[in-house]
Amino acid sequence: MGSGTSSPIRRLIVMPSELNAVLDTIRRFVETEVQPLEALFLAEGFATVQPRLDELRHVVKRMGLWVPHLSAAAGGPGLSLSEFARVSEVLGRTPLGHYVFNAQAPDVGNMELLLEHGDEAQRRTWLRPLVDGTIRSCFSMTEPGRAGSNPTWLSTTAITDGSDYIINGDKWFTTGAEGSAFTIVMAVTNPESQERHRRASMIIVPTGTPGFELVRNTSVMGERGDGWASHAEVAFNGCRVPTANRIGDEGDGFRLAQERLGPGRIHHCMRWIGICERAIEVMSRHAIDRELAPGIPLASRQVVQHWIADSRAEVDASRLMVVSAAEKLEREGPRAARVEISTIKFFVADTLGRILDRALQTLGGLGMTDYTPIAFWYRYERAARIYDGSDEVHRDLVARAELAKYDR
Ligand SMILES: Cc1cc2nc3c(=O)[nH]c(=O)nc-3n(C[C@H](O)[C@H](O)[C@H](O)COP(=O)(O)OP(=O)(O)OC[C@H]3O[C@@H](n4cnc5c(N)ncnc54)[C@H](O)[C@@H]3O)c2cc1C
Repeated sequence: MGSGTSSPIRRLIVMPSELNAVLDTIRRFVETEVQPLEALFLAEGFATVQPRLDELRHVVKRMGLWVPHLSAAAGGPGLSLSEFARVSEVLGRTPLGHYVFNAQAPDVGNMELLLEHGDEAQRRTWLRPLVDGTIRSCFSMTEPGRAGSNPTWLSTTAITDGSDYIINGDKWFTTGAEGSAFTIVMAVTNPESQERHRRASMIIVPTGTPGFELVRNTSVMGERGDGWASHAEVAFNGCRVPTANRIGDEGDGFRLAQERLGPGRIHHCMRWIGICERAIEVMSRHAIDRELAPGIPLASRQVVQHWIADSRAEVDASRLMVVSAAEKLEREGPRAARVEISTIKFFVADTLGRILDRALQTLGGLGMTDYTPIAFWYRYERAARIYDGSDEVHRDLVARAELAKYDR
C-alpha cells in the first residue's frame, strides 16, 4: 500500500535499542512540531489546526513512521503490537499526536478490521485511502435506546432486499463522524438466531448514502468537538447499501467487534500512559517553578512529592502490565488475553484519572484553564472509564476468571 514508507527506519525497528532510537525521534518531533499546536486546538477546535496537522502528516510519511500500527506489507513500519504500544505512549503525550501519524481511533480499529476481514474490493475502496490518509472513517455501534454494555442487544436492523441491505436505526457517540467518508455500522441481520452473539453484522455505509444522516455533534464534557474530534448522533433511515458491503459473514458482527476492541484497548491504555507521563512532567515542572514564598518552591511540600512519587510508581506499573498484555495477545491471540486486557482497561483508566487529578491540583487555578492540556484531559478522559467497555463490565470479567480458579 503506497504510503511513502521506504525509510531505513522501517528495517531497523526490530531491536530494543533501535526501537528506543525511533521513540526518541518521535518524542522530539512531537515536542517540537505537534505540541506547539495544542493551544490553538484547545482554543479553536480541530478545523483550525487541521491544515498544519496535514502538512505534518506529509513529514511523518517521509520519516517512514506513517501508520505505525501496520505491518510493512500494509504500508506501515512493521512494528509488533508491543512495540507499537510504546510508540502510542509517545504520541499520547499530546491530544494531536496520533492524528499526525494516522494512528488515531477510530480509524486504527477500522484499518485493522478491513485488513484482517475485508475482501479485496473493500480493501481497495476503503482501506487503501484510509491508510494513505486521504479519507477518515468512523464506527457506529452504540445506540441511545439500548445499553451499549450489551452489544448483543441492538435495535438497528439491516434487512435484505435483493442484493442490498436496507438499514434503519439510530446510533450515537459515533466518534469522528463529521468529515468521515464511511462508517462501519453494527446492525441486526439475523434476529431469529438462537445465539444472541450471532444476530448482528458489520456493514460499510458510505456517509453520502441517501438515508444516512449526521443528526448532530454531541457536546462531551463541554467539548463541542469538530471533525475528527467530534462525537455524533447518526441516523439510518432506509439506508440502502449492497450486501457486498458486509464485512465477514452474516452474524459475525459481535465476534469482529471483540477482535477489533482487543488491540484497541491496548492502544488506548498506552495513549493514556503517554498522557500520564505528560501530566507528571507538567506537574513536576510547575512544582519546581512555582514559589509559595520567596525561595520556597511548591516542590518542597511533601504532599506534592508524594503525588509525584505515587504517580511515577503507578504509571510504571501500568506500562509493564500493558506491554505484558500486548505480548500475550500477540503470542496467544485476543481470546487468550481477554482477562489481561480487561485488567489493564480498568486499571490504567483509573490510574489516568488519579494522575490527572493530582496534576490539576498541583497547578492550582492554572490547572482549571486551557493554558495547559491538563484541564482538557481531565474533562475529556473521564470517558476512559466508559468507552470500550465500562469499568464495571471489565471488573466483572476479571472477577469471574479469578473466582473460577477456586470454584469447585
Ligand atoms: C467519548 C466517547 C467516545 C465513544 N466513541 C464511540 C464510537 O466511536 N462508536 C461507538 O459505537 N460507541 C462509542 N462510544 C460509546 C461507548 O462505547 C459506550 O458509552 C459504552 O459502551 C457504554 O455504553 P452506554 O453508554 O450505553 O452505557 P450503559 O451500557 O447503559 O451502562 C451505563 C453504566 O451502567 C453500568 N453497567 C453497565 N453494565 C454493567 C454490569 N454488567 N454490571 C455493573 N454495572 C454495569 C456502568 O457503570 C455503565 O457506565 C463512545 C463513548 C464515549 C463516552
